[in-house]
Amino acid sequence: MHASSDKNDWMFGNDTDDPLRHAFDRKVTVHPGAMGRPVPPEDWQTVLQDRLDRRPGPEQRAVYINIPFCRRRCKFCNFYKYPADKETVRRYLDFLVREIEMSADSERVSSRPFNAVYIGGGTPTELTPKEIGKLLEAVNEHLPLTNDCEITFETRTSGLDDNRARACLEWGVNRFSVGVQSFNTEVRRSLGRIDEREVVIRKLNRLQDFGLAAVVIDLMFGLPGQSMEIWEDDVRTWLDLDLDGGDLYQLMVLRGSEMETMASGERGPADLPQQAAMFGRALDIMEDSGYRRLSVCHWGNGHRERSLYNGLTLAGAEVMPFGAGAGGNVADVSFMVESDLRKYEDGVMRGEKPLKFLARHHPMRGLFSDLSGQIDSGRVDMSSLRKHGVDLEAAAGPLLQRWSEIGLISRRGRFLELSVAGQFWNVNLAQGMIDWCMGSGQGTAGHPPQGAGAVMG
Ligand code: SF4
Repeated sequence: MHASSDKNDWMFGNDTDDPLRHAFDRKVTVHPGAMGRPVPPEDWQTVLQDRLDRRPGPEQRAVYINIPFCRRRCKFCNFYKYPADKETVRRYLDFLVREIEMSADSERVSSRPFNAVYIGGGTPTELTPKEIGKLLEAVNEHLPLTNDCEITFETRTSGLDDNRARACLEWGVNRFSVGVQSFNTEVRRSLGRIDEREVVIRKLNRLQDFGLAAVVIDLMFGLPGQSMEIWEDDVRTWLDLDLDGGDLYQLMVLRGSEMETMASGERGPADLPQQAAMFGRALDIMEDSGYRRLSVCHWGNGHRERSLYNGLTLAGAEVMPFGAGAGGNVADVSFMVESDLRKYEDGVMRGEKPLKFLARHHPMRGLFSDLSGQIDSGRVDMSSLRKHGVDLEAAAGPLLQRWSEIGLISRRGRFLELSVAGQFWNVNLAQGMIDWCMGSGQGTAGHPPQGAGAVMG
């Protein structure tokens, strides 16, 4: 096996007969995409307002609401922002509701319904039942929603009690996304998770007993102290619970997380070849489960779980963001709401959408989002991509040929299908194609690609 030598050659992968473990040296990004063109801060409000005054197209779209508080920071996480003290949370909620009210009259928000709402964070169950009711009342009152709108409430088991669950259900939440990560108490403790195995199982059963909303969980592989045996037990415990679905995520050691300082090894996170083996093992188990595969890492059990928000965001759909630190995109711009609480409040008080940055989309964003979404589903309909005005087949021929040779993809009719190895390395395949297109000049083959890892589509 030899590794690629030129930094721009990473996308061609390594010569290996074990592509699952060794096709690449690293995952190049978490979310594939192409950097847009930043707009100068003095123009942010005018540019955004112009887009908010425009009527949206007929495509499905979503809302994201951010609750940037957690009781305790998990070691793998770099999202968490503020400790959840009651007064700060109460004050934040007032401003968040005001931000939602302020947007309600804009043409962009009011003229077509949203198909999915995702309330995430942070930990939304840091809100009291009354606060949850207040937020969801504002959502229902001020945002137009489709009759079958998927309304997801993200939570972890600690803090999730009957009163909070009832407040969610009363106001139309129809999907709970529960961050479990592992059922093993020791592994959980090493992550900074609070509840032990029995409590996690009891709370998931309780949530499922309400019978009113889909219950899906996140599990992670590659965690410190999580042997293959423990990982298998995590997957089988989830299946035994007969929930509505779940995600099996690879641990990504993120910059700024506590995990970044932990060495890999017996007590630290698994290395990439070990993670690849865990992914392969999980696929074997899932193949016998009868669950529906919704993406390379997400499964539904029965028909309740749609995973609509995830599907829409992966395919580049419009997402209207609310709350400090929330990111989204409208028309041809992506932006993030100010994450500093004081500045966020000041902006809302001025009657503005407080912004942290705003950028115009890359001209090929439509193609890149479509492609990334399809790669995440495990197969790509090459002929469907022609609607973006690019013949990717011709443009990326040498790259596709190489991936086929090292066992990452295969061809079936007009479809490219990802092998198990291709599924494990799916973000590299998506980013590789995007970088290739950018480097080769709007999708015409010939020149070497330019760099990797650009995020933000
Ligand atoms: S993983 Fe979730 S619960 Fe844990 S610190 Fe991050 S945002 Fe909070």
